[in-house]
Amino acid sequence: MKKITIVGAGLVGSLLSLYLAKRGHKVQIFERRKDPRKLKKSEGRSINLALSDRGWAALKKIGISDEVSHSAIPMFRRVMHSIDGTLSFQDYGKDGQAIYSVSRGGLNRILLEKAEDDPNITVDFNHRCVSANPETGSAVFQNDSETIEILNDAIFGTDGAFSKVRSAFQRRDGFSYSQEYIDHGYKELTIPPGPSGTFKIEKEALHIWPRGKHMLIALPNLDGSFTCTLFFPMKGEVSFDSLNTTLKAREFISKVFPDAYSLMNDFDNQWESNPTSSLVIIKCKPWNVGGRSMLLGDASHAIVPFYGQGMNSGFEDCRVFDEILENSNDFNTAFESFSNTRKPDADAISDLAMQNFIEMRDLTGQPKFLLQKKIENRFSELHPDKWVPLYSQVTFSNIPYSTALAAGKKQEEIMKKIMKITDIESLWDKPKIDAIILDCLKNDTQAN
Ligand SMILES: Cc1cc2nc3c(=O)[nH]c(=O)nc-3n(C[C@H](O)[C@H](O)[C@H](O)COP(=O)(O)OP(=O)(O)OC[C@H]3O[C@@H](n4cnc5c(N)ncnc54)[C@H](O)[C@@H]3O)c2cc1C
Repeated sequence: MKKITIVGAGLVGSLLSLYLAKRGHKVQIFERRKDPRKLKKSEGRSINLALSDRGWAALKKIGISDEVSHSAIPMFRRVMHSIDGTLSFQDYGKDGQAIYSVSRGGLNRILLEKAEDDPNITVDFNHRCVSANPETGSAVFQNDSETIEILNDAIFGTDGAFSKVRSAFQRRDGFSYSQEYIDHGYKELTIPPGPSGTFKIEKEALHIWPRGKHMLIALPNLDGSFTCTLFFPMKGEVSFDSLNTTLKAREFISKVFPDAYSLMNDFDNQWESNPTSSLVIIKCKPWNVGGRSMLLGDASHAIVPFYGQGMNSGFEDCRVFDEILENSNDFNTAFESFSNTRKPDADAISDLAMQNFIEMRDLTGQPKFLLQKKIENRFSELHPDKWVPLYSQVTFSNIPYSTALAAGKKQEEIMKKIMKITDIESLWDKPKIDAIILDCLKNDTQAN
């Protein structure tokens, strides 16, 4: 049994504490913010999140998936809204497969309550980590009245993309680190509920307004509202910078997303009061210093949100790390093994998330892309052992992200050939097309 410090009681830190406590360790969590359960409004990013199989698997292993499922809304398909209001649809997976819209605050609350119920865990809010020593496992925290130093056997940094614990790693020889802001940022807007909490657009779907270089998406909330996120260039001709008055923003949004705009009651007020935030990609290695300190979640791999996998991959970190601890109780070995084996998967989902941005904002609006997905789904239903669509590998399975990325590249090569076939629009569901795909797969296997 070890004494452990966790910095950050966000989604990943609070879940990690449950896993460690279950193994008998004594866990002290320190969180910079005030207790979110005592705040009126959830502060910070994304009010709701898409939870998928990897996240569910991690919640299930610790025994809280049922509780979370009571307040999760399934989203079975993408609904694409074109500029003239025409809708098109793309199922996410096979019958019954869905990703789930969950409230960030609600999920964090459940995790924190479980943590506080556990006699092996203490949670101290309003304690900001101001420095950490990865070699010794010590950290210094400040609250309103004092500064305290905590020295435990090990320290975990789950303090998000701008991790203070990681900043101590950055001063160490041999630690590689990169931080990249993408050109797009985001702003959240709300479609309020209809009368008596009804949903103004299809409830069990993720809505997308793909517009080439930018897009709007919307996820449902339990009260009948939708949280919309506008992903938009930060600078340039058409950008958050250029929409520098509410009038310009209203004119633009009402023209480019007319159906969504018409459902937002108080656009002007929302535009003015909701923050515009940037999106950052963080990569680093190694994630551990011996068996004393380790980074998990966004602290070690912050990704863009376009695959809906940031939290899911952070939750998977906890499950995978726990599996490693099952085999070796020795922290030196376990930390080393986790950092080495998990890093390629974090890099893979980071790349996949950027790819999916292009798919969502641009390709989902194109008939040829939707046809490609139809061909893939049809072939996958005929030959489930030979073809699992990339989206399903990432979202509805627990296979390593790096394996999914590699398989997806091969599939894309094959589909490029298929989509070049003359008259593919009329031939797409003919046995001839299946035979060509089978042939490509055979050649690929032989080449390897
Ligand atoms: C717009 C947007 C949409 C997203 N949508 C999805 C989605 O649909 N699905 C999905 O899986 N992921 C999504 N994500 C990603 C997801 O939000 C993150 O991957 C996830 O929150 C990471 O959890 P974490 O616990 O590692 O970090 P965080 O959630 O950032 O939590 C870190 C915690 O550490 C605390 N902290 C920070 N510094 C200190 C300090 N010095 N001392 C003490 N405490 C500290 C913070 O207050 C916070 O509570 C989205 C992200 C964004 C920006």
